[in-house]
Amino acid sequence: MKKITFCLIFIGAMHSMNAQKINLGKAANVVANGAKGLTFSNEDAVKLSKESVDYMDKNNPVAGPKDPYTIRLNKLFSKHKSQDGLNLNYKVYKVKDINAFACADGSVRVFSSLMDIMTDDELLAVIGHEIGHVKNQDTKDAMKTAYLKTAALEAASSASSAVANLSESQVGKMANAFLDASHSKKQESEADIYSYDFMKANKYNVVGAYTAFKKLALLSEGGTAQTGFQKMFNSHPDSNKRAEAIKKRAEKDGLWKDPGTVSLPTTKLTK
Ligand SMILES: [Zn+2]
Repeated sequence: MKKITFCLIFIGAMHSMNAQKINLGKAANVVANGAKGLTFSNEDAVKLSKESVDYMDKNNPVAGPKDPYTIRLNKLFSKHKSQDGLNLNYKVYKVKDINAFACADGSVRVFSSLMDIMTDDELLAVIGHEIGHVKNQDTKDAMKTAYLKTAALEAASSASSAVANLSESQVGKMANAFLDASHSKKQESEADIYSYDFMKANKYNVVGAYTAFKKLALLSEGGTAQTGFQKMFNSHPDSNKRAEAIKKRAEKDGLWKDPGTVSLPTTKLTK
């Protein structure tokens, strides 16, 4: 089972019938590599991100235009395609990993299993968080790290100070490294702040950001099996703390409404 820790928020995976996990193709182990002195521009980040996302789109089940997941995401996302000066595009991957990620080229990918457990408000909080990573150029940093880690670089001249053109399998390795890259705590909390402000500015329910993290915390706490869901692994120990930070801001802004005890849904959510 591939563990995806890229942005996100998320973290985990659920078993559900007929679901696939995200496919990274034949991506091999990545190797660390030096490449000192590499010039890595915004354009490089966009180009490599686009190549990585194209690769992932090709190797994963993308929900079609009439798919209920696509329809739901359209409803939530379409008005934010030109958010904050960014040109964003989005798709749903019908995979069982619970995740979402964004790339420097403005691509946002939301996984169907995440949509299954999140309400619309919670998904908007995740979307806002991902947009925050793009806006803050965290995704550029992650892409550069992925590029540098990729064995692909071995093939490029070690003396080269420019980004090399990559073959498809090299792009696959890079995409793998990109999904394995994690943002720093600071980047995560800045993206959380961006998400909160995004929710607030658009008059969405900011408590959704809180409950989203509470759900993530539940997913990462081992132990009690949730009916209908089987937890595979955990990572994000900070989810509860991140939820509390959101609660504090909401209280200060007079936007806090106690959601009561947050639990994981036992049936798939559709709104
Ligand atoms: Zn993040």
